[in-house]
Amino acid sequence: MVKQDFSISDFAHLISPAAAEDLESLCQRSRALTLQRFGRVIRLFAPLYLSNECINNCKYCGFSRDNPILRVTLSVDEVLREARALTEQGFRNLLLVSGEHPKFASSGYMADCVRRLHEEVPSLSLEVGPMETEEYRGLVQAGADGLVVYQETYDREIYAEMHTAGPKRNFGWRLETPERAYAAGFRRIGIGALYGLGDWRVEAISVAAHADFLLRNCWKAQLTISLPRLRPCAGEFQPITHMSDRDLVQLVCAFRLMFPDVGLVLSTREPAKLRDGLNPLGITLISAGSHTEPGGYTGAGKQNLHHTERGRIVELGASEWAAAGPEVHATGQFDIADSRTSREIADLIRRLGYEPVWKDWDAALTA
Ligand code: SF4
Repeated sequence: MVKQDFSISDFAHLISPAAAEDLESLCQRSRALTLQRFGRVIRLFAPLYLSNECINNCKYCGFSRDNPILRVTLSVDEVLREARALTEQGFRNLLLVSGEHPKFASSGYMADCVRRLHEEVPSLSLEVGPMETEEYRGLVQAGADGLVVYQETYDREIYAEMHTAGPKRNFGWRLETPERAYAAGFRRIGIGALYGLGDWRVEAISVAAHADFLLRNCWKAQLTISLPRLRPCAGEFQPITHMSDRDLVQLVCAFRLMFPDVGLVLSTREPAKLRDGLNPLGITLISAGSHTEPGGYTGAGKQNLHHTERGRIVELGASEWAAAGPEVHATGQFDIADSRTSREIADLIRRLGYEPVWKDWDAALTA
């Protein structure tokens, strides 16, 4: 990775209200730098939810343990079925996502999923509860190459307020997760803040400082920064702070200028029109056609839907099944805003003059 020429205080200026007055020139610089470093390509990935069980309470998340949602953990065969539905669409880069629940979604279960999927999917990243280095090592050996962990908010007070129960309350343990992942051998590391909790500029400066630290200390890994904004979810949490579309554009450009070689990730949390505009400006990796519930692509696991109370499965009663109807599925983590299919997104990328890349990595390359 090439070290950038900007300092953290330069970055603070790039995201300031003063710099927003000349957003057009910021966009032009960012677009040119992205073209120079990444060429005319946009990588595609899809999230694959393994489980929506969770032992944490995060006020902003639909999977919080106290939410009376429909839950399920897919079997390894069901995960494979979901993965095949995605590879049939063209995806070769999957992000396996799970709530944090050692009983239902242990590191051993995840390693089994990764091992099985790795036979058919070249690039597998994980977005799961933080683990010890040794547990990560097992996942790397099974075939995972990327680890994504958002700090959510870098403000300790807001962090304590948002995370009311469960191991996620430990701010420092989460903050050090990327370093443990790196020590275990992950070659892609993703970080980010969840915008809508703290002041977006303060959060962004913290993300930049964290990224700067990781570029110096975990320099063999490829770093990505995600820019998720809060979306509606079960529990009806409302964002505490506002980040406008224009703010998001400014932040994408600022991250690009600060970190010319870092991948910038945009998910289907954002509406179609905004995503289309942001792609050429600095985004290098996008999700498409996403579902945020386990079994979302094939209906896998729906016969095992249940509630979970105090870590115990509570079967649905006959009246609940009847009320749920034939289209019942597990509850998603959040509502997506861009519901276009992966094909529609790929076609759009081509129309913009870019190439959609479904795969850019194969473990065989390191053999
Ligand atoms: S954000 Fe993660 S840890 Fe928190 S409730 Fe949701 S799935 Fe669980």
